[in-house]
Amino acid sequence: MEWSDLQLETLAVRAGQERSQFGEHAEALYLTSSFVFKSAAQAAARFSGEEEGNVYARFSNPTVSMFQQRLAALEGAEDCVATSSGMSAIMALCLAHLKAGDHIVASNGLFGATLQLFGNILSRCGITCTTVPQTDAAAWEAAIRPETKLFFLETPSNPLTQVADVRTLSGIAHKHGILVAVDNCFCTPILQRPLELGADLVVHSATKYLDGQGRVLGGAVCGPKKLTEEVFKYLRTAGPTLSAFNAWVLLKGLETLKLRIEAQSASALELATWLEAHPQVERVFYPGLASHPQHDLAMSQQKAGGAIVSFQVKGGKEAAWKVVDHCQLLSITANLGDTKTTITHPATTTHGRISPEARAAAGISDGLLRIAVGLEAVQDIQADLTRGLVAG
Ligand SMILES: *Cc1c(COP(=O)(O)O)cnc(C)c1O
Repeated sequence: MEWSDLQLETLAVRAGQERSQFGEHAEALYLTSSFVFKSAAQAAARFSGEEEGNVYARFSNPTVSMFQQRLAALEGAEDCVATSSGMSAIMALCLAHLKAGDHIVASNGLFGATLQLFGNILSRCGITCTTVPQTDAAAWEAAIRPETKLFFLETPSNPLTQVADVRTLSGIAHKHGILVAVDNCFCTPILQRPLELGADLVVHSATKYLDGQGRVLGGAVCGPKKLTEEVFKYLRTAGPTLSAFNAWVLLKGLETLKLRIEAQSASALELATWLEAHPQVERVFYPGLASHPQHDLAMSQQKAGGAIVSFQVKGGKEAAWKVVDHCQLLSITANLGDTKTTITHPATTTHGRISPEARAAAGISDGLLRIAVGLEAVQDIQADLTRGLVAG
């Protein structure tokens, strides 16, 4: 039996499990910081890498390894390196593959902390970044310099759900010997497998849908071993390691990932369709809707639209805040990827620190709201939103 012959739902519950001598059915949680050797010779062989096996939990731990193998199987990747958070996965990817003098081209709609990392932290180490519109392939190509080493994108984007053409951008990058990394947080491998579309590396904030229940932080970098090996070398020395406990929680999260993301995505489509017909709603941003400017592209690289729906209410900030403040069920929080539906007003929260001009240029209007659809009944979510949408 080859893992690659199995379906995603099978991989989600089976891939990567290594049973111990005790024959436990569920994945074991190994809470140990170090591992013992049978002899001085074995210790030496483990340290030199001559013999495979665990040494110290900054490098590896059996529970973390099970999570890595399961996620790699789901992404169709040869290998996966888990990290303590999504941001440390992005940091590890960059410091493993870039050095002072190198240049990144990235979409301007990336997760805020990723933009901060590129613009304010890596820049201090001499790694520069040019941001371009996600959807403009010509702008990506025009931004390439001789020292460009990485294209970094996130599709669909947050909160406007703009879709990057992974096949086209990978084609452009590879002509110039540039690596392509995709943050696959919003789709997860259930809806989109960037490596199959031509990307070289996939990064995850496992904190979001992979856990899916808002419990722990985690991250991962997936790809061919020749690229993840460098990430592992960084990790074992710099130390942003995923804890065994979080890996164990994430392993269990992966088991229900397909069920959750498909149900949440189906509810998101129903909610987006309803919002689009609502008289108080100006515009809906959701890749699964035929009205989305890149609907065809989205459906050619994603199996469904995902669980994030953004919409612009009529009446600007006041009207948007009214919707938020009338919610009795939805959680008012900027987090996403949970079984509990969340609502956010991006202009005053996630995108509140950028200038009004930059915000307007990015298309984040004052009336914009973002919903990360969870597992509640759609009619209950609609009823909660209706309170604020119809309030005088
Ligand atoms: C949350 C998020 C991250 C960062 O992940 P953490 O686990 O919070 O460090 C990166 N990318 C995207 C798209 C995210 O939503």
